[in-house]
Amino acid sequence: MEFTATDLWTRVLDAVRPGMPEQSFKTWLSATRGVALAEGELQVEAPSQFHAEWIEDKYLPTLQSLAHSLLGRPVRLQILAGSGAAPVFPAVEVTRPRPSPPPVAPPPPRPETRREPPVRDRDGPRPLLNDRYTFERFVVGSNNQLASAACHAVAEQPARMYNPLFLYGGVGLGKTHLMHAIGNHILGGAPDSSVLYITTEQFVNDLVTSIRQGKTPEFRQRYREVDLLLVDDVHFMKEKEGTQEEFFHTFNALYDARKQIILTSDRPPKEIKGLEDRLVSRFEWGLVVDIKPPDWETRVAILRKKAEDDGLTLDPEVIDFIARSCTASVRELEGAVIKLLAYSSLTNQEITEALARTALSGMIRTDDRESMPPEAALTPERVRDVVAKEWGVKPEGLASKRRTKDLTVPRQVAMFLIKEILDTPLVAIGEVFGGRDHSTVIHSIRKVEDSMADDPDFAARVAGTRDLLLGTDGARP
Ligand code: ADP
Ligand code: MG
Repeated sequence: MEFTATDLWTRVLDAVRPGMPEQSFKTWLSATRGVALAEGELQVEAPSQFHAEWIEDKYLPTLQSLAHSLLGRPVRLQILAGSGAAPVFPAVEVTRPRPSPPPVAPPPPRPETRREPPVRDRDGPRPLLNDRYTFERFVVGSNNQLASAACHAVAEQPARMYNPLFLYGGVGLGKTHLMHAIGNHILGGAPDSSVLYITTEQFVNDLVTSIRQGKTPEFRQRYREVDLLLVDDVHFMKEKEGTQEEFFHTFNALYDARKQIILTSDRPPKEIKGLEDRLVSRFEWGLVVDIKPPDWETRVAILRKKAEDDGLTLDPEVIDFIARSCTASVRELEGAVIKLLAYSSLTNQEITEALARTALSGMIRTDDRESMPPEAALTPERVRDVVAKEWGVKPEGLASKRRTKDLTVPRQVAMFLIKEILDTPLVAIGEVFGGRDHSTVIHSIRKVEDSMADDPDFAARVAGTRDLLLGTDGARP
């Protein structure tokens, strides 16, 4: 996954938060924000010079290693005292001495053979393929065996066997990873190939901008001259007719020129409502293959591999504990390891099963919750009702389909918290809110994540509600 500065920093904060006293978090970190991410450096703005120095003194190595783990490559952290305006790269040198910064390797040079991508994001040039997303780092299990084999086949012989290759499955199961792995493999063997990875969202934005600037011919040209086109999360094309029309022609042009196309989605083509039939049928021309959530054995194998790749020692009991607690996705497994590392480093404790239990208490479900009295057990309905109460609206309102603003926000928050705390499947979450479909739920969750990143007050309110639900503020709901 590629991050913007805001995303990356929000995730670092999420990871570090459970490991520190809430008051310290609020005092020192809650008002910081990620302002720029480029050239292996993440710039973070703190509200004052004093904050900046304190953070550097106390938390820099932990924050930096979390950012490294989350980003998948070394990153230097620059804490700047807020000046209002985000600094411009190349970054200003920090003159204050740092408290023994951990050694960080410079970012790998960008291979010159890869062509400039067509889209730039807010934080500068769009990152190209993530070089950690390789086949070597991908653990094959019964849940992804077929998908992985198909990807290997395509990587070996693009546009021969399966064109397009369509991968689908839930969030955090490795679709983007496999897609990048194909791109990395092909570039490894033929560095002159032109490989283009793009999210559907970027494709849409690029198209909209090109139309506005009267540059659609250039837009078409850019997409039609590539050897390998990787389009991530095509379910976001649904109900966007202009995009579908344009993509249809791009697809045909590449296909006719025998170029490989790889697509991912959260569901099979036929189930993407609001996707034109002609696209559905094209998406099915090659191979459609799914990835399922990993079973216990695969989860253990993934944890072992991650530990090995990151030079970590995790005891078998700890691995087993995480594998039993985090069942939904690989992303969740990774999040658990990162949280655990943060917790252990901030509290200076060794990683044991007991520590894992404490650090991951918010993520643990089922088995461990069975020991709680039934009235304390959280259900999606209960989360929904507590959020309604906190936001001062009626629970029935949240369960309805009404779209007034006073309901929309708490409804989104409730969906977000249900996913976060209970990890209820998206479809089941939709059912608690008047039968909304699973992409609406994803959209709502993203919305909350974005707002939390942009608005500390909102983030604090959501976090407060979560604490209330989990009883970590001392008051069980
Ligand atoms: P998706 O695109 O399906 O939402 P990602 O490809 O972004 O999921 O994967 C989420 C995270 O989990 C990534 O960091 C990825 O490297 C990791 N991951 C997923 N599947 C595997 C696997 N089988 N082996 C190793 N890492 C994996
Ligand atoms: Mg993805």
